[in-house]
Amino acid sequence: MAHVAAEEMVGRHVLEVFPDIEPSDIHAAVRRVMAGGPAERVETFYAPLRMWGINSVYPLADGVAILSHDITAQRALEQDLAFLAQASRILSSSLNYQRTLRAVARLVVPTICDWCAVDILTDSGQVDLLAVAHVDPQKVHWAQELRKTEPVDMDAPTGLPKVLRTGKAEFYPVVTEEMMVAAAKDQAALDLMHEIGFSGVMIVPLKLRTRTIGAITFVASQPGRHFTDADLATAQKLASRAALAIENSRLYEASQKAVALRDDFISVASHELRTPVTSLKIYTQVLQRQAERRDDQELSSALAKMGVQINKITTLIGDMLDVSKIESGKLAIQQEPFDLNAVVTEAIEGVRAASTSHSIGHTGRIESDVRGDPDRIGQVITNLLSNAIKYSPRRTEILVRLGEAHGEVFVEVEDFGIGIDQDHLDRIFERFYRVNSLDEKTFPGLGIGLYISREIVHRHGGSLEVTSTKGSGTQFRVTLPIETTRDEAGI
Ligand code: ADP
Repeated sequence: MAHVAAEEMVGRHVLEVFPDIEPSDIHAAVRRVMAGGPAERVETFYAPLRMWGINSVYPLADGVAILSHDITAQRALEQDLAFLAQASRILSSSLNYQRTLRAVARLVVPTICDWCAVDILTDSGQVDLLAVAHVDPQKVHWAQELRKTEPVDMDAPTGLPKVLRTGKAEFYPVVTEEMMVAAAKDQAALDLMHEIGFSGVMIVPLKLRTRTIGAITFVASQPGRHFTDADLATAQKLASRAALAIENSRLYEASQKAVALRDDFISVASHELRTPVTSLKIYTQVLQRQAERRDDQELSSALAKMGVQINKITTLIGDMLDVSKIESGKLAIQQEPFDLNAVVTEAIEGVRAASTSHSIGHTGRIESDVRGDPDRIGQVITNLLSNAIKYSPRRTEILVRLGEAHGEVFVEVEDFGIGIDQDHLDRIFERFYRVNSLDEKTFPGLGIGLYISREIVHRHGGSLEVTSTKGSGTQFRVTLPIETTRDEAGI
């Protein structure tokens, strides 16, 4: 209670100095201490001055001593922090900024002000009233209707248009009748001001680095309710958090659009590439047969190399198509019982034919059938083998193991190549994820093979797991549920 000096207080009754103080607060404590009780601390709110105090009541031989501290600033700070923490929680709760700003507007009414409005500048320079809050829902409706009939005049010299133009807050802590009369351009405008009721106004900009993207208006509309510098500071802090949330949400929207555009592009490009590459392959085969008939070794070997490259392009296009199909939920999986041994052998032979650099060891047999799509499972095994070869340039041994355990069948593909750092292990199955280290840059690829493989295996009710040690090698394990054992099925 800062404006009363300590010496003025000594020897006077507390109610003489602060006549409006809640008697129960300090009086009761004084009575208890005078009756021989121990010293007490009492917190009081002195309403006329909106001050908070902490009062220590000590026993003296002939009465009590009261030491009072003004804790209004500390209280305001606590409330401010609690309010901003709550606002931040709301602002970070969703990436839909329209929704979060509406929630923030509701949060400030009635604690900070009686009216709150959030305006956003659209790309075409229009002012869009995104949110209005007032305790009375009818008033909210009225304000929204009013904005439709009376759009914001962007050339107005003061108020919201000025804040949007300059990016600087407008602060009218106390609004009087005279101020309203002076500001109103005609009687209708004055009537409107009375209808809204202005006793204090703050308009703070929503700013992104250099641009003002909108503003939040806070209106106090009860007689005697005004704003302080501390209120303005809180409003500005709230606005800067809100602006950040808007920017995050806009960036997120933009990135989502970019991802959708990329996916569309991949889908269209892979469809468009498929037909010409197929005819390219057919003509190459025709030419190769002719070269063989003419016994033109040189041309024949060049055309064979061309065929290998065309196959690589065909696989890439197929993978891109598969990604689009997975994204649109259109990846078809056949459902038939099949022999996994044969599928694995075929995949190994296919990879051996395309690459002679590595030796592929093959152990184990399974006695059960698997249900699903043999071509798709073959695609998974081929992909794991191709990766094993690609990522072990200095080691030439690859091991494939088949087996059954715990009512499931498994296929393991192991290499002794560059391995994968633990930090990346969880992420290699993500779409377009490639390990980004210096040595990896030299390996070609799109980062979609494992994504497709895991999707295929999951669609079979199985799992695709990896274990790896950087520098020593990698082991992938495909596990699939058993359809029937062949004995049971009588095969
Ligand atoms: P791509 O091989 O086309 O990049 P994949 O989806 O098949 O895409 O693999 C994703 C990433 O996982 C690869 O970029 C590579 O970093 C890592 N990776 C996959 N298989 C192996 C392996 N056998 N050894 C080491 N790293 C591997």
